[in-house]
Amino acid sequence: MTIYNLGSINIDHVYRLPALPRPGETLHAQSYAQGLGGKGANQSVAAARAGADVVHLGAMAASDGWVLGRLAEAGVQTSAIARLPDIATGHAIILVDTAGENSIVLHGGANLALPAALASGIGFGPDDILLMQNETNLQAETAALARRAGARVIYSAAPFSIAALREVLPHVSILSVNEIEARDTFAAFGEDLPVEGLLVTRGAEGAEFRDLRGGQAWHQPAFAVEAVDTTGAGDCFTGWFAAGLARGENPPTALRHAAAAAALQVTRRGAGDAMPDRTEVLAFLK
Ligand code: ADP
Repeated sequence: MTIYNLGSINIDHVYRLPALPRPGETLHAQSYAQGLGGKGANQSVAAARAGADVVHLGAMAASDGWVLGRLAEAGVQTSAIARLPDIATGHAIILVDTAGENSIVLHGGANLALPAALASGIGFGPDDILLMQNETNLQAETAALARRAGARVIYSAAPFSIAALREVLPHVSILSVNEIEARDTFAAFGEDLPVEGLLVTRGAEGAEFRDLRGGQAWHQPAFAVEAVDTTGAGDCFTGWFAAGLARGENPPTALRHAAAAAALQVTRRGAGDAMPDRTEVLAFLK
């Protein structure tokens, strides 16, 4: 039972400055940090730390070995990540001022140049899960392939795009959205979605999973914690929920573990680097 995650890999370059630079202005940063990011990499790390067997399907510049090291360290299998010549690894330039206000430049780079052979080379099986988000090309093709093999497809509709969702939705088993994306999804496609399950996360309000075939629904309150950085909370939740389903947990158990993992994640700074592992989550739930 493998989780294949077709997803973005970003390097987050985080600069702290006294103020955000105005047009034409040059400022020295007070500090610089490099982190692993991208919704795809975040979800791969979350699922791997949750104990799942995770194969990341993605692409990056041939030269960025640092990224592979970070993914491998988290237990993500990196052999299906294409190393492309003459293209940048996806990255984000994140400027943060002393008040916590930010400006972000995002460059998709290799994430939008995934070679078609990436998906066709995978032998999906009926017990596998394909996880996807909306930060790469090849979404609909890969989802169709996985579904034909009987695998479940879990799709995070983020960043939200009606066009991307319309294309992929016929192949999706479980749709994962936050509150805003849920509203946009219902506005565009109605409440009667053609999926088996719907996962809606609502920040500090918690999350719910609706089994649209069986008509059952489960609500999971968020755990009360002191949140310092909620970047990647949704990715943590979705990665953990997918890992729960992959290990055969029922929806309420998978929800509870995912909520505990996301609660721990928001108490730490960073995205991919802040995902908790199974030991930490089980200790938190004791
Ligand atoms: P996204 O990051 O996609 O917008 P949410 O903000 O809905 O996702 O957060 C995902 C999950 O993370 C929530 O369902 C909740 O379990 C957890 N979470 C988010 N913010 C907090 C918080 N302040 N305290 C505790 N848990 C939180």
